[in-house]
Amino acid sequence: MAQNVPITVAYGDGIGPEIMDATLKIIQAAGARIDIEEIEVGEKVYLRGVSAGIEPSAWESLRRTKVFLKAPITTPQGGGYKSLNVTVRTVFGLYANVRPSVAYYPFVDTKHPNMDVVIIRENEEDLYSGIEYRQTHDMMESLKLISRPGSEKIIRYAFEYARTNNRKKVTCFVKDNIMKQSDGLFHAVFDEIAAEYPDIVNEAWIVDIGAAKLADTPEAFDVIVMPNLYGDILSDVAAQIAGSVGLAGAANIGDACAMFEAIHGSAPRRAGQNLANPSGLLLGAVLMLVHIGQPEIATLVHNAWLRTLEDGVHTYDIYEEGVSKQKVGTKEFADAVVARIGQKPEKLKAASYSSTAGEVSGNGKAHVQSLEKKELVGVDVYLEWREGTADELGAAVQKVNGAGLELKRITNRGAKVWPEGLPETFCTDHWRCRFQPAQANAQVSYSQVVGLLQRFADADFDVIKTENLYTFDGKPAYSSIQGE
Ligand code: NAD
Repeated sequence: MAQNVPITVAYGDGIGPEIMDATLKIIQAAGARIDIEEIEVGEKVYLRGVSAGIEPSAWESLRRTKVFLKAPITTPQGGGYKSLNVTVRTVFGLYANVRPSVAYYPFVDTKHPNMDVVIIRENEEDLYSGIEYRQTHDMMESLKLISRPGSEKIIRYAFEYARTNNRKKVTCFVKDNIMKQSDGLFHAVFDEIAAEYPDIVNEAWIVDIGAAKLADTPEAFDVIVMPNLYGDILSDVAAQIAGSVGLAGAANIGDACAMFEAIHGSAPRRAGQNLANPSGLLLGAVLMLVHIGQPEIATLVHNAWLRTLEDGVHTYDIYEEGVSKQKVGTKEFADAVVARIGQKPEKLKAASYSSTAGEVSGNGKAHVQSLEKKELVGVDVYLEWREGTADELGAAVQKVNGAGLELKRITNRGAKVWPEGLPETFCTDHWRCRFQPAQANAQVSYSQVVGLLQRFADADFDVIKTENLYTFDGKPAYSSIQGE
């Protein structure tokens, strides 16, 4: 007899406790071999003054079990509360967010009866590193960080997921026509890793038209991998057009720990009334069972749930006159699923999880064999300046030229405004001044940059930040300015 697997469970807020009760009842009835450690997270913990919404003892449980089944929580209104999801994801390095969005037509209404898409979202980087600054009176900055190891892990995870789950195609969504460095890296890594999986079709779309296609013809996609922000937005779109956000579960996978949840929130207005649909959390629990090596239980639960949907036993959120047969509450829905354990759907595609499906990992051979030669070739100095036109700023800043660095261009919000700017270009108080040696791409020392900054300070400029300009193996690795 296989041993029980310890898991950490949080009942959450709002409808959380009801849907967690239902979920645990179903998976235990199906024979899930689990030992539950309960922890408290969410609203009550926040309101006790713990700004992360989770106590140190709860972290210990998570570090011990490495598996977290989490009901939705309520983040109290007002500032100072950190998102529990973001904290757990970053602390445990849960780099892959996996969200299947499937249509259950004709039992759940959708415009896309054949939709069956899995969105694999990078979970740690991009704009979600949460590094933001107010730099000038006019300007806020958010840093978008995309790394090679981060991209390699998520993209390899997507291909491994596709292979293990018999998926035929992996698509990548990026905006590398605009973000040539960050999204450009994600796309380049996608191409490198795709070449290792000749058995799987691969394609890349610009995220805008890709999103439009996903919303219009989701059956054209299979597995889609994307950076964090696009994935956040589009996985909700995908769940909604498949039928309902109330029906989707998600896995957050890392090397040290994994978290499973419903994608919806705590729906406080529905709490305590035996109304909520437990399906999202139940499908999260199905992903958990696969992850902990109990695919046969996952298959039993998933098929009993599909059969319940087919039999028209529906909670209020998906109940429809003519299609549904019985409107039930959370508890009765759970009982209906339990009663169907061992049965399979007759019309919907039955689930069947393989014994290796829980072993998908993004770890593998890294693609950087040798480090390229990195050289400093210039610097962008950012200023707050409110005293006049771009030409006046150009004339003033040229006075700090010297020791091998000269002002080449000034931009405002990325648009070149000096030399020879256009009077029509709107300017804020946030200026970027690009300094390079007389001969472009000649090497510069950091002491030259420090000397330049000293001259800026002596001339009383308000320097808000600098960005070094590098070449890697002689190739410029910074965005060019119009005319360069
Ligand atoms: P929500 O997902 O809680 O609710 C959106 C709508 O969907 C509501 O009309 C709700 O009644 C309905 N709904 C959601 N889940 C349902 C279910 N299982 N069965 C039936 N109907 C369901 O989103 P919201 O109202 O924007 O947020 C409420 C709270 O949840 C907020 O405090 C928010 O911070 C939190 N939240 C938590 C998570 C999480 O813990 N993962 C995710 C999103 C939102």
